Amino acid sequence: MTTTAIAAVLRARGQPYVLEKVELADPGPGQILIRIRACGICYTDIGVQNYEQGLPLPQVLGHEGAGEVIAIGAGVTSVVPGDRVVLSYASCGSCPSCASAAPQYCAQFMALNYAGRLPDGRAPMQGHDGPVFGAFFGQSSFANHALAYERNTVKVADDLSWASLAPFGCGMQTGAGTVINSLKPRAGQALAVFGTGSVGLAALMAATNLGCTPLIAVDKNPDRLALALTLGATHSILSDGRDITAALRAICPDGVHHIVDTSGVGPLIRAGIEALASRGQLAMLAVTPPGTEITINPNMLLGGRALRGAVEGDADPRQFIPFLIDLHRTGRFPHDRLITPYPFAAINDAVADMRAGRAIKPVLIMD
Ligand SMILES: [Zn+2]
Ligand SMILES: [Zn+2]
Repeated sequence: MTTTAIAAVLRARGQPYVLEKVELADPGPGQILIRIRACGICYTDIGVQNYEQGLPLPQVLGHEGAGEVIAIGAGVTSVVPGDRVVLSYASCGSCPSCASAAPQYCAQFMALNYAGRLPDGRAPMQGHDGPVFGAFFGQSSFANHALAYERNTVKVADDLSWASLAPFGCGMQTGAGTVINSLKPRAGQALAVFGTGSVGLAALMAATNLGCTPLIAVDKNPDRLALALTLGATHSILSDGRDITAALRAICPDGVHHIVDTSGVGPLIRAGIEALASRGQLAMLAVTPPGTEITINPNMLLGGRALRGAVEGDADPRQFIPFLIDLHRTGRFPHDRLITPYPFAAINDAVADMRAGRAIKPVLIMD
């Protein structure tokens, strides 16, 4: 038995997705079959669509799925058919990182999220001309059905719309988690966000909740900065070639305590490091295109300053996503304002709108 699904298949790097019928394998031990109702688009999807990163093609991407459980494999105990779930990244549950509550640094992260295959080596789907790879972030949710694992399936209540639920799986978790779990600012400390896409704005909304001030948004798009000011930013800086270090120091003469960089732009990261307060830290989140190099003045790190990376907001999805949803329910995480819904069939328009800055967080709706 297999499940016939409609999936957006990437057949060649840099090409649009093609909606095709595929046959999806049945859930094996520890696996869950989900009817996907909505899936957000994240810049990681766009990076893989356009830049060679070793993923086999044809492949189904998509890693912000939300939907309902259709069937469960042997040994699955945390969900039953009919449950509403949000899907996040996959982890093994038994390596040293997973055992120490850091599944985002799982030793099997690449194998479970980027290999394109199920753990037994099979491609998870069959297309009209052979295997179709997937298991992207343990899901491949650019489809109306997906196979996930118990560890990346988060059961949720039924009071939020599918569109509202989907982006919690990656973008919202990554931005908010970087502030709450990685940087851990104290109330009254300065925090700046470089890049006000969905991840940067999620970071900003989280920082608002922690009482960070001043809270500074930096972007080259004035419309995004105007939006950031309505979501809790106290200051904005237009990145139009001006000296960003000087602009930050004009707001924070003693330096900025925390910076979240979502841009991956070398000169901006360098400017941020030079604007850090003593013992300040800058967290880089962007996956940069192959060949990217960043130069910094290493003496800046001597003041106890830190340049670090963070994956998925240092969050364990099964704890952090319910926490963020609770914050959303109380009105303190209004991420709905970032969402633009698109019918699944309009996936290529949604990607184009995101790349052009016309949509902040496109969410595909499968019906
Ligand atoms: Zn692990
Ligand atoms: Zn993502």
